Amino acid sequence: MDFKKIGVLTSGGDAPGMNAVIRAVVRAASKAGVKTVGFMEGYQGLMDGNYVDLTTGDVSNVISKGGTMLYSARATDFKTPEGMEKALKTIKDNDIDGIIAIGGDGTFRGATDLSAHGVHTIGLTGTIDNDITATDYAVGFDTAMNAVLDCIDRLRDTCESHARCIVVEVMGRDAGYIALQTGIATGAIGIVINEVPFDEEAMMQRIIRSIGHGRRSFVVVVSEGVKDELGKPYGERLTLRIEERTGVETRFNRLAHIIRGGSPTLRDRLSASMMGEAAVKLLLDGKSDLVVCERDSSIVTYDIKFALTLDKMYKNKLKPGDLSGFSSAEIREMEKLSEMRRQEFRDMYNAAITLM
Ligand code: ATP
Repeated sequence: MDFKKIGVLTSGGDAPGMNAVIRAVVRAASKAGVKTVGFMEGYQGLMDGNYVDLTTGDVSNVISKGGTMLYSARATDFKTPEGMEKALKTIKDNDIDGIIAIGGDGTFRGATDLSAHGVHTIGLTGTIDNDITATDYAVGFDTAMNAVLDCIDRLRDTCESHARCIVVEVMGRDAGYIALQTGIATGAIGIVINEVPFDEEAMMQRIIRSIGHGRRSFVVVVSEGVKDELGKPYGERLTLRIEERTGVETRFNRLAHIIRGGSPTLRDRLSASMMGEAAVKLLLDGKSDLVVCERDSSIVTYDIKFALTLDKMYKNKLKPGDLSGFSSAEIREMEKLSEMRRQEFRDMYNAAITLM
């Protein structure tokens, strides 16, 4: 296929490094003699025909900027047949030969729907939660974690002065990647994530023992997806219980969206650049319905439906029939990847406990 014009969009939650992906897409396409347009606010812009032409010059100096210059939105209408019809009309009327969609699993569902309608589409992982099972790494993760690190280091300073414990809730949805890795990197005395059972009493004992050794400050990191018996955020209840059980004055801090902004780190700029360039190559090679991932520091691709089903398997959300259509080799590969991710969590969590 002779590509002349491609579209790029950012969708779902924004992530630092999305601009670096847009830059890479525009530049790689331009080098191949292909024009790029950027759809505004994700699939909303695709439905509304709201786009901007993007030249190499338009993406100068965006590599260091957080957020997304194309903006993002939760465009729920896109899931309807009418929404898809509008998007297809935009694509046809504007002679768009292919789409690169940057985001998380919802974005990929949209991308695979477009592919099913004959549009060449490539997905690229951009989400601070890093919760796409098919990839080791999603653009935005490192910057978000470094923002957490900075905040917790500050909280640690004041906790040390006042002999306090701080319970910090971090983003990540149901995934504990951010909490686990930042917990290790800030020397937390407790890390609470959904992936590994949390032994609350063992943590209380660690705090009590540490007080005996003269320690004054404590950090506990809790992933936002962990809920208590009443379905409320676990961290808030835990804050009260730590104070009751150990006598240490304990405060709660929810970092929330503060960690989503800021200039992307080297890691994110690099991954964004490599993945963006790879996405253009795939599209121009006539590939479609693929998601660009990182595995053992190399760029790899998976069929989007494979990646979405793998996610369901890993999260124990498979419904009857979800695996039909996949070969037994593909199912084995999904099982292997799911187990690999689970093992990664267990290994890292065990190391974290050893170091507490
Ligand atoms: P994040 O993980 O950061 O939230 P995401 O890509 O999962 O990112 P969503 O809001 O779930 O974020 O999805 C982004 C967009 O993708 C939606 O606004 C919608 O336009 C489209 N989308 C989501 N789910 C579907 C679906 N089932 N079918 C078609 N399109 C979808």
